[in-house]
Amino acid sequence: MERKRVIIIGAGIAGLSAASYLQRNGYDTEIFEAHSLPGGLCTSWKRGEYTFDYCIYWLMGTKKETGFDIIWDELGALVDEEGREVPICNLEEFNSVQLSDGDCLTFYADTGRLEEELLRVAPEDRRRIQRFIRDLRSMARLKIPIDTEKWGKKEWFLFLLKHMGPALKLREYSRLTFEEFTRQWRNGKLQEAFRALIPPDWSATAFVMGLAMQDSQSAGYPIGGSLAFARNIERRYLALGGKINYNCRVEKILVEDGRAVGIRLASGEEFFADDIISAADGYTTIYKLLEGQYISEEIKEIYETYPLFPSTIHLGFGVAKDLSDFPARQMIFLPEPLELPDGSSHQYLSLNVCNFDPTLAPEGKTVVTVLLNTRNDTYWQDLAGKEPVLYQKEKDKMAEMVMEILEKRIPGFRAAVEVIDVSTPHTVIRYTGNWRGSFEGFAPTPETLSRSVPKELPGLSNFYMVGQWTEPGGGLPPAGLQGRNLAREFCVRDGKEFRSR
Ligand SMILES: Cc1cc2nc3c(=O)[nH]c(=O)nc-3n(C[C@H](O)[C@H](O)[C@H](O)COP(=O)(O)OP(=O)(O)OC[C@H]3O[C@@H](n4cnc5c(N)ncnc54)[C@H](O)[C@@H]3O)c2cc1C
Repeated sequence: MERKRVIIIGAGIAGLSAASYLQRNGYDTEIFEAHSLPGGLCTSWKRGEYTFDYCIYWLMGTKKETGFDIIWDELGALVDEEGREVPICNLEEFNSVQLSDGDCLTFYADTGRLEEELLRVAPEDRRRIQRFIRDLRSMARLKIPIDTEKWGKKEWFLFLLKHMGPALKLREYSRLTFEEFTRQWRNGKLQEAFRALIPPDWSATAFVMGLAMQDSQSAGYPIGGSLAFARNIERRYLALGGKINYNCRVEKILVEDGRAVGIRLASGEEFFADDIISAADGYTTIYKLLEGQYISEEIKEIYETYPLFPSTIHLGFGVAKDLSDFPARQMIFLPEPLELPDGSSHQYLSLNVCNFDPTLAPEGKTVVTVLLNTRNDTYWQDLAGKEPVLYQKEKDKMAEMVMEILEKRIPGFRAAVEVIDVSTPHTVIRYTGNWRGSFEGFAPTPETLSRSVPKELPGLSNFYMVGQWTEPGGGLPPAGLQGRNLAREFCVRDGKEFRSR
């Protein structure tokens, strides 16, 4: 039988996953990627001796038999170029918040220690704390069903029996906004810490699931970081016979008689296939590559009303200092809010001391990063486009302001800084094309999580979308899973037995 040809737009984790699973199921796949690297948002970059990692904080599925590990195993995501398993780092502290009164509240990974810490800070919330800890322990056992292609009624029944409790708990939290969750606690310090961590309109699951997974050590950080993770998936895909064309920006999806038939690159070259998958930014795909011609009321409403993850200003410092004693992930209260030129104001600073990954800096030196969220992508886009000299000046100024703050926390910091790297929403858009520089697509609110985003468009056949813009909340595991699920759908459609390896 002749092999069907499939074009995939974008070599982020969703595109790589879809291509990899399709390739092993007898499709001839070819990826067209605008950038010169795989990974999309899942990336890191080198400056001198230092590597700045942009993406992975916690990755679901880093422990065997927890669900998403199946996908990473099949994709080869956690095996390096020498064939060795990538070591996983599970931090003792998921996060800590330096509060306005000077106290520090640590969200320990271990639920026993976490309970003690919460009781220390908020004895008046004892009953609530005990219930929360029970819930976390229950949710830590939750496994997402992945390799269900061979499951019959019995397997589903056993799965549901085992996971019904944690799944119901998760649903309970997913229906709560974070503000509703925060108001359940009487203690003011706890409320302050929660408000520092997560926006009020997001679903409580975003935080609660992350914390629960720490207890079971099933969502760690792969040593080597985000780009190495993407490279591992790329390597397995290429070994299967797949093809990736880098530096190839797709400008148009070609349609004939309501059927997607090919793509046109910015260079003017055209390529044709039986099916087209866009794993690129959702807005660009629907409104630019397809010129807004295949939209339903539902899609219009989604793109007009769903809240987005913000974009980011990422400040990276290569520091000639051993900072192994510092907490890795901290939110720091700033008595004087940090005012940025884009108009955003920051009462807390999200600080990462990357002392847990020896591959990011030479021995005795450390990568320190600060992530500031902003919704004013337009400011940075305009500035970079119209006044590049001022753009650079503003970046330098932000680095100065942040170094001044860090000097007070880490004595001798400024003198030890060897490398400074600042990226803005303009950088995110330039390198990944994500709409408004959003770092994870549609925000996970109780409403967005309760509805699905269409992966196909009305009036257009042989066209599919995968990735963070078709799954509110985004993240790497859903990106990987969507690629797998789409390949399964292709196999069902074409009468093939799905092969996961
Ligand atoms: C700061 C930060 C921290 C994060 N932390 C975590 C975490 O701890 N855990 C977690 O699970 N997730 C995390 N995420 C989220 C995760 O990185 C994303 O949700 C995921 O990588 C999205 O993958 P994707 O393939 O859907 O999209 P993308 O990564 O955006 O990939 C899309 C690809 O399409 C390409 N493209 C776009 N337009 C075109 C075009 N016209 N032609 C050709 N190619 C095109 C882009 O260059 C890109 O490579 C984080 C993200 C950020 C930014």
